[in-house]
Amino acid sequence: MPVEAKHFSAKSGPAATRSDAAEFRAALRRWFRAHGRDLPWRKTTDPYAILVSEFMLQQTQVATVLPYYSEWIRRFPDFASLAAATESEVLHAWQGLGYYARARNLHAAAKAVVHQHGGKLPRNAHAIRQLPGVGRYTANAIAAFAFGDSAPIVEANISRLLARLINLREPIDTVAGQAALWETAASLLPSRDAAAHNSALMDLGATVCISRRPRCPTCPVQKFCQAADPAALPIKKARLGLKLLTEAHAFRRRKESVLLEKSENRWRGMWILPRLAQAPGRQPFYRSSFPFTNHRITLNIFACAEDPGPPAERQRWFSLTALESLPMPSPHRRALRQMLAAEEAHSFAKQRPHPSLIR
Ligand code: SF4
Repeated sequence: MPVEAKHFSAKSGPAATRSDAAEFRAALRRWFRAHGRDLPWRKTTDPYAILVSEFMLQQTQVATVLPYYSEWIRRFPDFASLAAATESEVLHAWQGLGYYARARNLHAAAKAVVHQHGGKLPRNAHAIRQLPGVGRYTANAIAAFAFGDSAPIVEANISRLLARLINLREPIDTVAGQAALWETAASLLPSRDAAAHNSALMDLGATVCISRRPRCPTCPVQKFCQAADPAALPIKKARLGLKLLTEAHAFRRRKESVLLEKSENRWRGMWILPRLAQAPGRQPFYRSSFPFTNHRITLNIFACAEDPGPPAERQRWFSLTALESLPMPSPHRRALRQMLAAEEAHSFAKQRPHPSLIR
């Protein structure tokens, strides 16, 4: 469905026209043929595989996603196998990708597809958007990449590229900014082969129209770009400052077992080192710091030699051999591995801190 380009025009052109958009698309297509990225989810039109890739790519870079995607498809090749998996298996397979709500939503979406749609992703965009974790972007990406529909998409790379192309002065994380981006994306869309067009926009944003120093001299659509100061775009709303949080957790070992606790909050369903209500009055044995949404969390781990008695609710002793198969968030996984390695050389009974573990 051809659409008028409302925001978009050639820099030197008189106004937004369909021929501007056509020329833009042709330049983009030529560039994509020579420089497009070779990505595994672009070699399939399987709606399941595309849904998996889209969930993984939300808030995570392509290079990080690649090994996870291949392993996930090997382990859960279709909606049925994913729907039949336990939450623990799903979280374990997602471990390291972060933002675990995506894994839970993907799992819930697979169950909905199996139980409500006979195991096939519905063709209807409205029905797709009813699935857990599926918003406008994911629904349109599936429409374009799996079903070949002429549907626009706007994700992080495309947002940056389009905001610069039209010199968007609205913050892109506002309703007005989003509306301008989606409208521009729609105005540039070809009536056929939207999948390649959308992929090309993403790749151009990811490799040429990059965040800090856009490579304008090599940009195939520079002629159309209206950005006065590209590096200053896109504009975003001012963020609230990072909140600092410090947490204390215990490392407790008994013979060949370690005590863990099932998280109810931040990492719901995953196993973490047990939380301490109060930090002991001594140096932690291990410390790390990591970002989490709008927080920076300092994780202090204390080696506790004393017997805590029977495990509290949600706590369990796990044998050392079982640890790698448990879903565990990366900060706790790293801490546990280092604590176990350090234990080889240090006696916890003496409670001697190992300075090299404190960062
Ligand atoms: S000319 Fe520069 S700022 Fe404009 S779209 Fe190309 S890379 Fe981005």
